[in-house]
Amino acid sequence: MHKTLGFVPTMGSLHEGHLSLIKKSISDKHFTIASIFVNPIQFNSKSDFEKYPVQTEKDIQMLSKAGCDAVFIPTPEEIYGSDIHLSSSDLFERELHGFDISSLEGVMEGEFRPGHLKGVAVVVKKLFNLVDPDFAYFGKKDYQQLLLIMQLTVFLKKNTTIVPCETVRETSGLAMSSRNERLTPSQKTEAAAIYRILSEIKKLSLKHDSTSLLIQKAKELFAFEPLQIEYIEIADGVSLKKISSTKDSENPVLFIAAYIGEIRLIDNIGLND
Ligand code: AMP
Repeated sequence: MHKTLGFVPTMGSLHEGHLSLIKKSISDKHFTIASIFVNPIQFNSKSDFEKYPVQTEKDIQMLSKAGCDAVFIPTPEEIYGSDIHLSSSDLFERELHGFDISSLEGVMEGEFRPGHLKGVAVVVKKLFNLVDPDFAYFGKKDYQQLLLIMQLTVFLKKNTTIVPCETVRETSGLAMSSRNERLTPSQKTEAAAIYRILSEIKKLSLKHDSTSLLIQKAKELFAFEPLQIEYIEIADGVSLKKISSTKDSENPVLFIAAYIGEIRLIDNIGLND
């Protein structure tokens, strides 16, 4: 009997967030493949790439324990061949000419991490071509990436269904992330302020719909925390266009990127969820 294929692309250093995607694919009864590939072209900072945590043996054990059927761990050469020296923009032009990501590139992750989204689109195209999944699982924590991949799948006319998955959090509320590995215990405690404040603003949005007021309030709350905000925005959850009132969207989402020390963390919360 033909079994459907469920695919979970990752950059390794796995945690419960990744495993929730694997477990969802397994419970959806797919033959489940994970990939581990720290994609060099999606990093816009060399040091972020070099310091990205790697723990492949432990990852394989975690995948096996979770019941994952297979794991694909390519080398950069296997993915990019002799093109490895090209920039994400050049590779994007070559691989995805005509795919318009300007609306995603101009805002938030696209704006603050030049080349990042193009690097993600290229690697996902290559992984999808190699694995050819029926279903692929992506986390809402990387919200803009999820939208990008939904658009990419349409552009490539792929028969892959993209399955969005909820963000898994520590008990403190901190969104699980491989980058949390690099936080000291006290920074981890401090980083919990991100979700605490997002949740407070969500509560406040029940009474106030002005997004400038809500963002102002968030900034006031963050001023007490040892975090540097890179951006904080309320946008429509489909178009990512900024909105002036939460009533202007069926799905208003509050997005944030912030630094704690040199570690960059992102999170978001759906205000109507
Ligand atoms: P990464 O290894 O960071 O590239 O993530 C691989 C996949 O796991 C992406 O689809 C992420 O959105 C997803 N992911 C990462 N962290 C979480 C989390 N805390 N909860 C749910 N999914 C996550």
